[in-house]
Amino acid sequence: MSIEKKISQIQSEIGSKVSLVAVSKTKSEIEITKAYKFGQRIFGENKVQELVSKQNNLPKDINWHMIGHLQRNKVKYIAPFINLIHGVDNLKLLKEINKQAKKNDRKIDCLIQIKISSEESKFGLTYKEASDLLKSEFVSALENINITGFMGMASNTSEQSILKKEFNLLNDFFNEFKKTDKNIKTLSMGMSNDYILAVNCGSNMIRVGSNIFGSRN
Ligand SMILES: *Cc1c(COP(=O)(O)O)cnc(C)c1O
Repeated sequence: MSIEKKISQIQSEIGSKVSLVAVSKTKSEIEITKAYKFGQRIFGENKVQELVSKQNNLPKDINWHMIGHLQRNKVKYIAPFINLIHGVDNLKLLKEINKQAKKNDRKIDCLIQIKISSEESKFGLTYKEASDLLKSEFVSALENINITGFMGMASNTSEQSILKKEFNLLNDFFNEFKKTDKNIKTLSMGMSNDYILAVNCGSNMIRVGSNIFGSRN
């Protein structure tokens, strides 16, 4: 199936209230342009160098999202243009994003990454750590960032009951914070293999790569 057909299929499945981040990491500018011409505007990348180079070469009305693990010393390269950083999981990184946003006279939206899977390799904070971070005075003092929600990566399994449990817990946490914090509006969960379940469990932003662009080498 073509990139265009895949995007329109996913859009009909998720409806207009859920945002689709087309994950274009490792994919060429030609492939991204196909999706762009079809109307796709949000693209997600996980490597700073690749992101900067694509941003430089492609249309300026693309919304670029950083979805990977971001190193502090690389924040400066994406701060001038990045729309949303999905994977924030510590205060030092938030402080650096704040500093670089200020230099660029911008406010940068960030999602706190929660470790919803019990797999060892995944990044992210526990619910308790995330809650403490959000309530911390150090975070409220950062004027050039907005924490707009949460991001989670479910276990790499096809076992629906496990995925459902992980997604539901994160959705509960999201809803709890949304009640009291008007900035909290985005719940980023769901990838190629589990986005339909994620949306059923409350996700309003999915990150889909291989399902749109084909498998990565
Ligand atoms: C690569 C990646 C995705 C997309 O994965 P697919 O399975 O290809 O849809 C989503 N989120 C993150 C954080 C990723 O690194």
